[in-house]
Amino acid sequence: MKVSDATAGIPAEFIEEVRRKIAATTPQHFINGAFVPGVQGELFETLDPSNNQVLTRVYRGHAEDVDKAARAAKAAFAQWRLNAKARKRYLLKIAELIEKHADELAVIECLDAGQVLRIVRAQVARAAENFSFYAEYAERAMDGRTYPVDADWLNYSVRVPVGVCGIITPWNAPLMLSTWRIAPALAFGNTVVLKPAEWSPITAWKLAQIVQEADLPPGVFNVVQGFGEEAGDAVVRHPDIPLIAFTGETTTGSLITQNSAPLLKRLSLELGGKSPVIIFEDADLERALDATVFQIYSFNGERCTASSRALVHQTLFDTFVGRLAERAARIRVGHPLEPQTEVGPLIHPEHLQRVLGYVEIGKQESQHIFGGERVGQEGNYVRPGLFVAENHHRIAQEEIFGPILTVIPFRDEADAIAKANDSKYGLASYIWTRDVTRAHRVALALEAGMTWINSHNVRHLPTPFGGVKFSGTHREGGEHSLEFYTELKHIALPLREHPIPKFGR
Ligand code: NDP
Repeated sequence: MKVSDATAGIPAEFIEEVRRKIAATTPQHFINGAFVPGVQGELFETLDPSNNQVLTRVYRGHAEDVDKAARAAKAAFAQWRLNAKARKRYLLKIAELIEKHADELAVIECLDAGQVLRIVRAQVARAAENFSFYAEYAERAMDGRTYPVDADWLNYSVRVPVGVCGIITPWNAPLMLSTWRIAPALAFGNTVVLKPAEWSPITAWKLAQIVQEADLPPGVFNVVQGFGEEAGDAVVRHPDIPLIAFTGETTTGSLITQNSAPLLKRLSLELGGKSPVIIFEDADLERALDATVFQIYSFNGERCTASSRALVHQTLFDTFVGRLAERAARIRVGHPLEPQTEVGPLIHPEHLQRVLGYVEIGKQESQHIFGGERVGQEGNYVRPGLFVAENHHRIAQEEIFGPILTVIPFRDEADAIAKANDSKYGLASYIWTRDVTRAHRVALALEAGMTWINSHNVRHLPTPFGGVKFSGTHREGGEHSLEFYTELKHIALPLREHPIPKFGR
């Protein structure tokens, strides 16, 4: 599949220029305000998912590079933590520069992560918003309180930053997901070492350029590229990094928990999901259909909050499955930079095999309705797939992280809740009904960190984001990010001389 000339407002020449620029560079680590090749100088390849050709080679960081980054971040923390007004200015500047470089960032993300332009544009806008929101929010939010005890004492609390934050991110939406952590960490006075995913490392390098253009003090923001078991593990085990914000697979989150335990690190884990969308018999079916189709097939299905299990009331089951199949068949699979494309290529040949493997499993144990096959022989394209299954089937229980929807019938409200909760995951959930009382009753009963009623996943930055069960351990967003990225410190002062026991007199 080739890119045509008419690319949704981004001219083909510009795309080629970005492609050439990437090919001509070897993205380096960004440590202490400078781009550096890394101690061992090794490289790894990053591929274009639309054809699996090498986009460029990237420096592969090791423990020595992480150590340098952590030391730089620790040194920078001493000043950065003190100057809230300057932090706000810098963060607003970064937001402005992300907007200035939005087209380049979008093209890089399409080329490197295979996400489609219409989705990536929104993600870049969100990346800018992450910085502008927390720049403003931190200024107001970092307050404390006083504790009335008695007239002889002043007891109060303040919020202080934790220190160097290790941020480890996945490959599906690299810019949006990394800035979602970087922005609050910096805004509340911490410094950062970022380890991006090895399958989509390039926007982190571009973000470092933006940070340099914003003239952030050296060491405040650092990037170490490389592999999870090398650079990522070194971040997890580094003694000068007391906090880890991780987004990725549940098994990796569990490993990170174990590996960081000896140092008692503060962890926020945003992990996998198998989120249900429940469609009751009184739902607005057109809107429920739009939302279900968008929630599973957008982001190429590589979305943690995807509604990958559709629970549909038995009276409308066959009709709804038919409508889903019609829509899945019409979804435009194509190059990520084509303006019409709705689903692009999966990130990597390994992930393609994993998704196709689930399609085979689904064909054996469930009822295959439509799609799920590879499209073309170049790149990692998969036709949106649809299965009817039972909730205990593997394709209904395991996270596929691809454009594959599993539809399951239910009898009544109790059956819907039981099936929705019969999952090891608990990230998001979605309810479609016109019965307001039922909507709230079911929302309360669902074991999920987040529930949307009559809506797809529309995020607002002040609201809590995160999962329960195997989907995560924390909430971030607004005040919840404040709690995670700061320490609550108590300070006590006697207002007159108070008695002190006199030992050893
Ligand atoms: P992984 O867990 O494989 O990787 C995530 C990051 O962790 C990568 O940077 C990876 O490096 C790194 N890593 C791997 N092993 C270690 C280790 N031992 N120590 C430290 N770091 C390590 O996840 P994926 O990249 O495959 O992302 C897909 C997963 O992310 C899905 O399960 C999805 O649900 C989840 N996700 C969750 C979200 C949420 O908010 N809940 C949002 C988006 C995705 P490397 O790239 O080299 O492997």
